[in-house]
Amino acid sequence: MNSRNKFYFLVFKIEWVEILHKMGISTGKFERRSGLLFSRCFFHSEKTPSFVFFQKTGTFKCFGCGEQGNKLRFVKLFFHWDSPKTIRWFHKCFGTPLPWKSAKEKRRVSKK
Ligand SMILES: [Zn+2]
Repeated sequence: MNSRNKFYFLVFKIEWVEILHKMGISTGKFERRSGLLFSRCFFHSEKTPSFVFFQKTGTFKCFGCGEQGNKLRFVKLFFHWDSPKTIRWFHKCFGTPLPWKSAKEKRRVSKK
């Protein structure tokens, strides 16, 4: 498995609640129903929860505004970060490998 695939595989395996807690989001008021986690949307204002975290697929979807995606996209949108910053955050918080080649690997390649 290359580092990119390994990264996506490991991020996929992290539970939504673990990610949310690391982001400083309290999940105590979230409703849990058959592997789904319901919340109010993070990207538009609403009174009733139409935002769902899917444990099985590792994705999210808001049935109100239509925003959806995977864990990386959620973190990225939430903090208004770019992809490298989001990837480094996962690396720091969960020890997932960086999907790009390390400086060491690059040096090895350039020597050939
Ligand atoms: Zn929404």
